Amino acid sequence: MTGADTMHDLFTRARAVIPGGVNSPVRAYGSVGGDPRFVASASGPYITDVTGRQYVDLVMSWGPALLGHAHPEVVEAVEAAARRGLSFGAPTEAEVELAEAVRERVPAAQKVRFVSTGTEATMTAIRLARGATGRDIVVKFSGCYHGHVDALLAEAGSGVATFGLPGSAGVTPATTAETIVVRYNDVAALEAVFAERGEEIAAVITEAAPANMGVVPPEAGFNAALRRLTAAHGALLILDEVLTGFRVGPSGWWGLDGAAAGGDVTATGSESWTPDLFTFGKVVGGGMPLAGLGGRAELMDLLAPSGPVYQAGTLSGNPLATAAGLATLRLADAAVYRHVDRVAGTVADAVGAALDAAGVAHRVQRAGNLFSVFFGEAAARDGVRSYADAQAQDTFRHPPFFHAMLDAGVALPPSVFEAWFLSSAHDDAAVEAILAALPRAARAAAA
Ligand code: PLP
Repeated sequence: MTGADTMHDLFTRARAVIPGGVNSPVRAYGSVGGDPRFVASASGPYITDVTGRQYVDLVMSWGPALLGHAHPEVVEAVEAAARRGLSFGAPTEAEVELAEAVRERVPAAQKVRFVSTGTEATMTAIRLARGATGRDIVVKFSGCYHGHVDALLAEAGSGVATFGLPGSAGVTPATTAETIVVRYNDVAALEAVFAERGEEIAAVITEAAPANMGVVPPEAGFNAALRRLTAAHGALLILDEVLTGFRVGPSGWWGLDGAAAGGDVTATGSESWTPDLFTFGKVVGGGMPLAGLGGRAELMDLLAPSGPVYQAGTLSGNPLATAAGLATLRLADAAVYRHVDRVAGTVADAVGAALDAAGVAHRVQRAGNLFSVFFGEAAARDGVRSYADAQAQDTFRHPPFFHAMLDAGVALPPSVFEAWFLSSAHDDAAVEAILAALPRAARAAAA
Protein backbone atom coordinates (compact mmCIF):
# COMPACT_ATOMS: atom_id res chain seq x y z
CA MET A 1 0.00 0.00 0.00
CA THR A 2 1.39 3.47 -0.89
CA GLY A 3 1.56 6.38 1.51
CA ALA A 4 -1.27 8.05 -0.41
CA ASP A 5 -3.41 4.92 -0.01
CA THR A 6 -2.75 4.85 3.72
CA MET A 7 -3.80 8.48 4.07
CA HIS A 8 -6.89 7.94 1.93
CA ASP A 9 -7.97 4.90 3.95
CA LEU A 10 -7.47 6.73 7.21
CA PHE A 11 -9.45 9.74 6.02
CA THR A 12 -12.27 7.43 4.86
CA ARG A 13 -12.26 5.74 8.27
CA ALA A 14 -12.21 9.13 9.98
CA ARG A 15 -15.17 10.44 7.98
CA ALA A 16 -17.21 7.42 9.08
CA VAL A 17 -16.94 8.41 12.74
CA ILE A 18 -16.00 12.10 12.85
CA PRO A 19 -17.95 14.79 10.94
CA GLY A 20 -15.86 15.59 7.88
CA GLY A 21 -13.15 13.36 9.32
CA VAL A 22 -11.62 16.15 11.42
CA ASN A 23 -12.13 17.97 14.69
CA SER A 24 -11.59 21.45 13.23
CA PRO A 25 -12.66 22.26 9.67
CA VAL A 26 -9.49 23.63 8.04
CA ARG A 27 -7.67 20.36 8.77
CA ALA A 28 -9.79 18.60 6.13
CA TYR A 29 -7.92 20.18 3.19
CA GLY A 30 -11.28 21.38 1.86
CA SER A 31 -9.86 24.34 -0.04
CA VAL A 32 -6.74 22.59 -1.39
CA GLY A 33 -8.20 19.16 -2.15
CA GLY A 34 -6.72 15.74 -1.45
CA ASP A 35 -6.44 13.82 1.79
CA PRO A 36 -5.06 15.51 4.88
CA ARG A 37 -1.80 14.16 6.29
CA PHE A 38 -2.54 12.26 9.50
CA VAL A 39 0.24 13.17 11.88
CA ALA A 40 2.06 10.59 14.00
CA SER A 41 4.53 12.91 15.73
CA ALA A 42 6.22 16.29 15.56
CA SER A 43 9.59 17.56 16.71
CA GLY A 44 11.28 20.94 16.27
CA PRO A 45 10.31 22.35 12.84
CA TYR A 46 9.11 18.97 11.53
CA ILE A 47 5.94 16.93 11.51
CA THR A 48 5.94 13.24 10.58
CA ASP A 49 2.88 11.57 9.11
CA VAL A 50 1.64 8.05 9.87
CA THR A 51 3.61 6.65 6.93
CA GLY A 52 6.85 8.02 8.37
CA ARG A 53 7.20 10.90 5.88
CA GLN A 54 8.62 14.06 7.40
CA TYR A 55 7.67 17.64 6.42
CA VAL A 56 9.00 21.04 7.40
CA ASP A 57 5.99 22.50 9.16
CA LEU A 58 4.78 26.04 8.56
CA VAL A 59 1.53 25.58 10.46
CA MET A 60 3.01 24.93 13.90
CA SER A 61 -0.35 23.94 15.37
CA TRP A 62 -1.72 27.27 14.03
CA GLY A 63 0.56 29.28 16.24
CA PRO A 64 1.23 27.77 19.65
CA ALA A 65 4.54 26.10 18.77
CA LEU A 66 6.70 29.25 18.97
CA LEU A 67 9.62 27.16 20.24
CA GLY A 68 9.07 24.37 17.72
CA HIS A 69 7.20 21.14 18.32
CA ALA A 70 7.79 19.20 21.51
CA HIS A 71 10.49 21.44 22.91
CA PRO A 72 12.31 19.15 25.38
CA GLU A 73 12.01 21.54 28.33
CA VAL A 74 8.30 22.12 27.70
CA VAL A 75 7.69 18.38 27.42
CA GLU A 76 9.67 17.79 30.61
CA ALA A 77 7.58 20.42 32.45
CA VAL A 78 4.36 18.74 31.27
CA GLU A 79 5.62 15.28 32.24
CA ALA A 80 6.61 16.50 35.67
CA ALA A 81 3.21 18.13 36.12
CA ALA A 82 1.45 14.96 34.96
CA ARG A 83 3.24 12.93 37.59
CA ARG A 84 1.81 15.29 40.23
CA GLY A 85 -1.77 14.90 38.99
CA LEU A 86 -3.78 15.61 35.85
CA SER A 87 -6.50 17.92 37.11
CA PHE A 88 -7.46 19.10 40.58
CA GLY A 89 -10.41 21.45 40.25
CA ALA A 90 -8.64 23.57 42.85
CA PRO A 91 -6.20 26.48 42.63
CA THR A 92 -2.47 25.89 42.10
CA GLU A 93 0.64 27.99 42.61
CA ALA A 94 1.57 27.52 38.93
CA GLU A 95 -1.58 29.38 37.83
CA VAL A 96 -0.50 32.33 39.95
CA GLU A 97 2.97 32.17 38.38
CA LEU A 98 1.51 32.08 34.87
CA ALA A 99 -0.75 35.08 35.58
CA GLU A 100 2.29 36.92 36.96
CA ALA A 101 4.32 36.01 33.87
CA VAL A 102 1.57 37.37 31.61
CA ARG A 103 1.31 40.58 33.63
CA GLU A 104 5.07 41.04 33.54
CA ARG A 105 4.95 41.08 29.72
CA VAL A 106 1.65 42.92 29.39
CA PRO A 107 1.36 45.16 32.47
CA ALA A 108 -2.15 46.35 31.54
CA ALA A 109 -3.32 42.77 32.08
CA GLN A 110 -3.35 43.47 35.81
CA LYS A 111 -5.49 40.41 36.44
CA VAL A 112 -5.84 37.36 34.22
CA ARG A 113 -8.50 34.64 34.11
CA PHE A 114 -7.42 31.40 32.44
CA VAL A 115 -9.78 29.33 30.32
CA SER A 116 -9.15 26.43 27.93
CA THR A 117 -9.62 27.91 24.44
CA GLY A 118 -9.38 31.21 22.64
CA THR A 119 -13.09 30.93 21.91
CA GLU A 120 -13.87 30.88 25.62
CA ALA A 121 -11.57 33.86 26.13
CA THR A 122 -13.35 36.07 23.59
CA MET A 123 -16.79 34.82 24.67
CA THR A 124 -15.99 35.74 28.25
CA ALA A 125 -14.50 39.09 27.27
CA ILE A 126 -17.74 39.99 25.53
CA ARG A 127 -19.89 38.89 28.44
CA LEU A 128 -17.67 40.91 30.74
CA ALA A 129 -17.90 43.99 28.50
CA ARG A 130 -21.69 43.72 28.43
CA GLY A 131 -21.81 43.19 32.18
CA ALA A 132 -19.53 46.15 32.81
CA THR A 133 -21.30 48.61 30.51
CA GLY A 134 -24.90 47.40 30.71
CA ARG A 135 -24.99 47.66 26.91
CA ASP A 136 -25.73 44.95 24.34
CA ILE A 137 -24.06 45.69 21.03
CA VAL A 138 -20.66 44.39 20.01
CA VAL A 139 -18.76 45.74 17.02
CA LYS A 140 -16.40 43.47 15.12
CA PHE A 141 -14.51 43.80 11.86
CA SER A 142 -15.19 41.72 8.79
CA GLY A 143 -12.54 39.10 8.26
CA CYS A 144 -11.50 39.08 11.92
CA TYR A 145 -11.88 35.67 13.54
CA HIS A 146 -12.42 35.42 17.27
CA GLY A 147 -13.28 31.74 17.62
CA HIS A 148 -16.67 30.13 17.12
CA VAL A 149 -18.61 32.34 19.52
CA ASP A 150 -22.16 32.73 18.14
CA ALA A 151 -22.18 36.52 18.27
CA LEU A 152 -18.76 36.75 16.61
CA LEU A 153 -19.45 34.46 13.66
CA ALA A 154 -21.22 37.32 11.96
CA GLU A 155 -19.61 37.87 8.59
CA ALA A 156 -18.83 40.90 6.52
CA GLY A 157 -21.56 43.03 5.05
CA SER A 158 -21.08 45.50 2.27
CA GLY A 159 -21.04 49.24 2.51
CA VAL A 160 -20.01 51.29 5.48
CA ALA A 161 -21.39 48.99 8.12
CA THR A 162 -24.06 46.40 8.33
CA PHE A 163 -25.77 44.28 10.89
CA GLY A 164 -24.11 40.93 10.74
CA LEU A 165 -25.75 38.00 9.09
CA PRO A 166 -25.26 34.71 10.89
CA GLY A 167 -22.04 33.19 9.56
CA SER A 168 -23.15 29.67 10.45
CA ALA A 169 -26.28 27.58 10.52
CA GLY A 170 -27.47 27.37 14.10
CA VAL A 171 -26.63 30.98 14.96
CA THR A 172 -29.85 32.86 15.42
CA PRO A 173 -30.50 36.19 13.72
CA ALA A 174 -31.37 37.53 17.17
CA THR A 175 -27.85 36.78 18.34
CA THR A 176 -26.13 38.49 15.46
CA ALA A 177 -28.59 41.36 15.55
CA GLU A 178 -26.48 42.50 18.49
CA THR A 179 -23.30 42.39 16.40
CA ILE A 180 -22.35 45.18 14.01
CA VAL A 181 -19.74 44.31 11.40
CA VAL A 182 -17.48 47.06 10.07
CA ARG A 183 -14.91 47.00 7.29
CA TYR A 184 -11.39 46.55 8.62
CA ASN A 185 -9.00 49.52 8.52
CA ASP A 186 -11.97 51.86 7.99
CA VAL A 187 -12.01 54.41 10.81
CA ALA A 188 -14.68 56.53 9.09
CA ALA A 189 -17.06 53.56 9.03
CA LEU A 190 -16.56 52.98 12.71
CA GLU A 191 -17.08 56.68 13.44
CA ALA A 192 -20.38 56.48 11.58
CA VAL A 193 -21.49 53.49 13.65
CA PHE A 194 -20.58 55.25 16.88
CA ALA A 195 -22.34 58.42 15.77
CA GLU A 196 -25.54 56.45 15.27
CA ARG A 197 -25.44 53.77 17.98
CA GLY A 198 -22.64 54.87 20.32
CA GLU A 199 -24.70 54.63 23.49
CA GLU A 200 -25.64 51.02 22.82
CA ILE A 201 -22.16 49.71 22.10
CA ALA A 202 -20.61 47.59 24.84
CA ALA A 203 -17.35 46.84 23.07
CA VAL A 204 -15.32 46.85 19.90
CA ILE A 205 -13.37 43.63 19.44
CA THR A 206 -10.50 43.46 17.00
CA GLU A 207 -7.68 41.12 16.15
CA ALA A 208 -4.58 42.98 17.30
CA ALA A 209 -3.16 42.38 13.81
CA PRO A 210 -5.56 40.30 11.72
CA ALA A 211 -4.13 37.02 10.50
CA ASN A 212 -7.29 35.03 9.81
CA MET A 213 -8.12 36.59 6.42
CA GLY A 214 -4.50 36.26 5.48
CA VAL A 215 -2.28 38.82 7.18
CA VAL A 216 -3.82 42.29 6.98
CA PRO A 217 -1.92 44.57 9.33
CA PRO A 218 -3.68 47.51 10.94
CA GLU A 219 -2.72 50.73 9.24
CA ALA A 220 -0.66 53.16 11.31
CA GLY A 221 -2.87 54.61 14.02
CA PHE A 222 -5.84 52.30 13.38
CA ASN A 223 -5.76 50.53 16.75
CA ALA A 224 -5.11 53.85 18.48
CA ALA A 225 -8.18 55.28 16.73
CA LEU A 226 -10.26 52.37 18.05
CA ARG A 227 -9.02 53.24 21.50
CA ARG A 228 -9.99 56.90 21.12
CA LEU A 229 -13.44 56.17 19.73
CA THR A 230 -14.37 53.53 22.28
CA ALA A 231 -13.18 55.69 25.16
CA ALA A 232 -15.11 58.71 23.85
CA HIS A 233 -18.34 56.69 23.81
CA GLY A 234 -17.95 54.70 27.03
CA ALA A 235 -17.43 51.40 25.19
CA LEU A 236 -14.66 48.93 25.89
CA LEU A 237 -11.88 47.94 23.51
CA ILE A 238 -11.10 44.21 23.42
CA LEU A 239 -7.77 43.43 21.78
CA ASP A 240 -7.79 39.82 20.62
CA GLU A 241 -4.19 38.65 20.89
CA VAL A 242 -5.04 34.94 20.85
CA LEU A 243 -2.90 34.53 17.74
CA THR A 244 -0.42 37.41 18.07
CA GLY A 245 0.07 37.36 21.85
CA PHE A 246 3.60 36.28 22.89
CA ARG A 247 4.22 35.30 19.24
CA VAL A 248 5.03 38.50 17.36
CA GLY A 249 7.01 39.77 20.34
CA PRO A 250 7.34 39.34 24.11
CA SER A 251 4.33 41.62 24.67
CA GLY A 252 2.42 40.58 21.56
CA TRP A 253 1.19 43.02 18.96
CA TRP A 254 0.36 45.53 21.66
CA GLY A 255 4.07 45.59 22.52
CA LEU A 256 4.89 46.52 18.93
CA ASP A 257 2.02 48.87 18.21
CA GLY A 258 0.48 50.03 21.45
CA ALA A 259 3.25 50.47 23.95
CA ALA A 260 5.07 53.32 22.22
CA ALA A 261 5.78 54.88 25.59
CA GLY A 262 6.76 51.55 27.12
CA GLY A 263 10.52 51.93 26.81
CA ASP A 264 11.65 48.33 26.80
CA VAL A 265 9.68 47.11 23.82
CA THR A 266 10.23 47.84 20.16
CA ALA A 267 7.70 50.50 19.34
CA THR A 268 6.49 51.06 15.82
CA GLY A 269 3.34 52.99 16.63
CA SER A 270 3.33 56.73 17.04
CA GLU A 271 0.93 56.74 19.96
CA SER A 272 0.73 54.82 23.17
CA TRP A 273 -2.62 53.11 23.66
CA THR A 274 -3.96 50.32 25.83
CA PRO A 275 -7.12 48.27 25.39
CA ASP A 276 -9.50 47.54 28.26
CA LEU A 277 -9.27 43.80 27.77
CA PHE A 278 -6.80 41.47 26.10
CA THR A 279 -7.54 37.92 25.04
CA PHE A 280 -4.70 35.42 24.84
CA GLY A 281 -4.38 31.83 23.64
CA LYS A 282 -2.09 29.62 21.58
CA VAL A 283 1.50 30.46 22.73
CA VAL A 284 0.37 31.16 26.31
CA GLY A 285 -0.64 27.49 26.55
CA GLY A 286 2.57 26.21 24.95
CA GLY A 287 0.65 23.73 22.79
CA MET A 288 -1.79 22.64 25.48
CA PRO A 289 -5.43 23.78 25.83
CA LEU A 290 -5.06 27.07 27.68
CA ALA A 291 -6.13 30.63 26.92
CA GLY A 292 -7.02 33.66 28.97
CA LEU A 293 -8.31 37.18 29.23
CA GLY A 294 -6.78 40.04 31.14
CA GLY A 295 -7.29 43.69 31.88
CA ARG A 296 -7.64 46.33 34.57
CA ALA A 297 -8.13 44.89 38.03
CA GLU A 298 -11.48 46.57 38.70
CA LEU A 299 -12.85 45.35 35.38
CA MET A 300 -11.58 41.79 35.78
CA ASP A 301 -12.98 41.71 39.31
CA LEU A 302 -16.48 41.85 37.82
CA LEU A 303 -15.96 38.16 37.01
CA ALA A 304 -17.32 35.55 39.41
CA PRO A 305 -16.67 34.91 42.24
CA SER A 306 -15.67 38.51 43.00
CA GLY A 307 -18.27 39.99 40.67
CA PRO A 308 -21.62 39.32 38.98
CA VAL A 309 -20.40 38.16 35.53
CA TYR A 310 -20.43 34.37 35.60
CA GLN A 311 -17.63 32.30 34.12
CA ALA A 312 -16.22 28.91 35.13
CA GLY A 313 -14.45 25.81 33.80
CA THR A 314 -13.73 22.28 35.06
CA LEU A 315 -10.37 22.28 33.28
CA SER A 316 -9.57 26.01 33.50
CA GLY A 317 -5.95 26.51 34.57
CA ASN A 318 -5.33 22.79 34.06
CA PRO A 319 -1.96 21.92 35.66
CA LEU A 320 -0.45 20.31 32.54
CA ALA A 321 -1.49 23.21 30.32
CA THR A 322 -0.30 25.73 32.88
CA ALA A 323 3.09 23.99 33.08
CA ALA A 324 3.43 24.06 29.29
CA GLY A 325 2.53 27.76 29.16
CA LEU A 326 4.91 28.71 31.96
CA ALA A 327 7.80 26.78 30.44
CA THR A 328 7.12 28.35 27.05
CA LEU A 329 6.98 31.92 28.34
CA ARG A 330 10.16 31.38 30.38
CA LEU A 331 12.01 30.10 27.33
CA ALA A 332 10.67 32.73 24.91
CA ASP A 333 13.41 35.29 25.41
CA ALA A 334 14.65 38.08 23.14
CA ALA A 335 16.85 35.64 21.19
CA VAL A 336 13.80 33.52 20.34
CA TYR A 337 11.92 36.51 18.92
CA ARG A 338 15.00 37.68 17.02
CA HIS A 339 15.34 34.25 15.45
CA VAL A 340 11.66 33.92 14.52
CA ASP A 341 11.66 37.44 13.06
CA ARG A 342 14.75 36.64 11.01
CA VAL A 343 13.62 33.30 9.58
CA ALA A 344 10.14 34.67 8.89
CA GLY A 345 11.71 37.55 6.96
CA THR A 346 13.95 35.17 5.01
CA VAL A 347 11.08 32.89 4.04
CA ALA A 348 8.69 35.75 3.24
CA ASP A 349 11.31 37.37 0.98
CA ALA A 350 12.01 34.05 -0.74
CA VAL A 351 8.30 33.43 -1.37
CA GLY A 352 8.03 36.84 -3.01
CA ALA A 353 11.16 36.30 -5.10
CA ALA A 354 10.04 32.84 -6.28
CA LEU A 355 6.59 34.11 -7.29
CA ASP A 356 8.15 37.12 -9.05
CA ALA A 357 10.50 34.82 -10.96
CA ALA A 358 7.55 32.68 -12.03
CA GLY A 359 5.59 35.75 -13.10
CA VAL A 360 2.80 35.26 -10.54
CA ALA A 361 1.19 38.55 -9.49
CA HIS A 362 0.99 38.56 -5.72
CA ARG A 363 1.55 40.51 -2.50
CA VAL A 364 3.26 39.12 0.60
CA GLN A 365 1.91 40.98 3.64
CA ARG A 366 3.53 40.92 7.05
CA ALA A 367 2.64 41.75 10.61
CA GLY A 368 5.70 41.21 12.77
CA ASN A 369 6.86 37.64 12.19
CA LEU A 370 3.52 36.61 10.66
CA PHE A 371 3.01 36.78 6.92
CA SER A 372 0.83 35.42 4.15
CA VAL A 373 0.58 35.52 0.39
CA PHE A 374 -2.26 37.12 -1.59
CA PHE A 375 -2.44 36.14 -5.24
CA GLY A 376 -3.64 38.43 -8.04
CA GLU A 377 -3.07 41.71 -9.83
CA ALA A 378 -5.25 43.78 -7.50
CA ALA A 379 -3.46 42.54 -4.39
CA ALA A 380 -0.09 43.12 -6.05
CA ARG A 381 -1.06 46.63 -7.11
CA ASP A 382 -3.06 47.96 -4.18
CA GLY A 383 -2.28 45.68 -1.24
CA VAL A 384 -4.95 44.07 0.91
CA ARG A 385 -6.57 46.31 3.53
CA SER A 386 -9.85 44.53 4.19
CA TYR A 387 -11.71 41.24 3.98
CA ALA A 388 -13.27 42.26 0.67
CA ASP A 389 -9.78 42.83 -0.75
CA ALA A 390 -8.63 39.47 0.62
CA GLN A 391 -11.59 37.64 -0.88
CA ALA A 392 -11.00 39.21 -4.28
CA GLN A 393 -7.63 37.45 -4.69
CA ASP A 394 -6.90 34.61 -7.13
CA THR A 395 -7.57 31.82 -4.61
CA PHE A 396 -7.23 29.19 -7.35
CA ARG A 397 -3.46 29.67 -7.35
CA HIS A 398 -3.05 28.39 -3.81
CA PRO A 399 -3.95 24.66 -4.20
CA PRO A 400 -1.25 23.93 -6.82
CA PHE A 401 1.26 25.99 -4.84
CA PHE A 402 0.33 24.16 -1.65
CA HIS A 403 0.53 20.68 -3.18
CA ALA A 404 3.86 21.33 -4.90
CA MET A 405 5.29 22.40 -1.53
CA LEU A 406 3.76 19.35 0.18
CA ASP A 407 5.22 17.03 -2.48
CA ALA A 408 8.60 18.61 -1.77
CA GLY A 409 8.21 17.99 1.96
CA VAL A 410 6.98 21.39 3.18
CA ALA A 411 3.58 21.66 4.89
CA LEU A 412 1.97 25.07 4.33
CA PRO A 413 -1.32 26.16 5.87
CA PRO A 414 -3.99 24.38 3.79
CA SER A 415 -5.89 27.64 3.22
CA VAL A 416 -4.86 30.82 1.47
CA PHE A 417 -6.54 32.82 4.23
CA GLU A 418 -4.14 31.65 6.95
CA ALA A 419 -0.81 33.01 8.14
CA TRP A 420 2.43 31.07 7.85
CA PHE A 421 4.04 30.26 11.19
CA LEU A 422 7.78 29.99 11.85
CA SER A 423 9.42 29.03 15.13
CA SER A 424 12.73 29.25 16.94
CA ALA A 425 13.32 25.63 15.88
CA HIS A 426 13.35 26.52 12.18
CA ASP A 427 17.09 26.21 11.69
CA ASP A 428 19.19 26.58 8.55
CA ALA A 429 18.34 23.08 7.33
CA ALA A 430 14.60 23.65 7.65
CA VAL A 431 14.78 27.08 6.00
CA GLU A 432 16.96 25.67 3.17
CA ALA A 433 14.35 22.97 2.53
CA ILE A 434 11.63 25.63 2.26
CA LEU A 435 13.70 27.82 -0.06
CA ALA A 436 14.59 24.85 -2.27
CA ALA A 437 10.93 23.91 -2.69
CA LEU A 438 9.68 27.40 -3.60
CA PRO A 439 10.69 27.82 -7.27
CA ARG A 440 8.83 24.71 -8.46
CA ALA A 441 5.79 25.56 -6.35
CA ALA A 442 5.77 29.09 -7.74
CA ARG A 443 5.77 27.68 -11.27
CA ALA A 444 2.87 25.40 -10.28
CA ALA A 445 0.99 28.48 -9.04
CA ALA A 446 1.65 30.19 -12.37
CA ALA A 447 0.06 27.43 -14.43
N1 PLP B 1 -9.02 34.66 18.26
C1 PLP B 1 -8.10 34.59 17.28
C2 PLP B 1 -7.45 35.85 16.79
C3 PLP B 1 -7.76 33.35 16.72
O1 PLP B 1 -6.84 33.30 15.74
C4 PLP B 1 -8.39 32.20 17.21
C5 PLP B 1 -8.08 30.87 16.64
O2 PLP B 1 -7.43 30.73 15.63
C6 PLP B 1 -9.34 32.31 18.24
C7 PLP B 1 -9.63 33.56 18.75
C8 PLP B 1 -10.03 31.11 18.78
O3 PLP B 1 -9.15 30.33 19.53
P1 PLP B 1 -9.45 28.77 19.73
O4 PLP B 1 -9.28 28.11 18.40
O5 PLP B 1 -8.41 28.33 20.75
O6 PLP B 1 -10.84 28.66 20.26
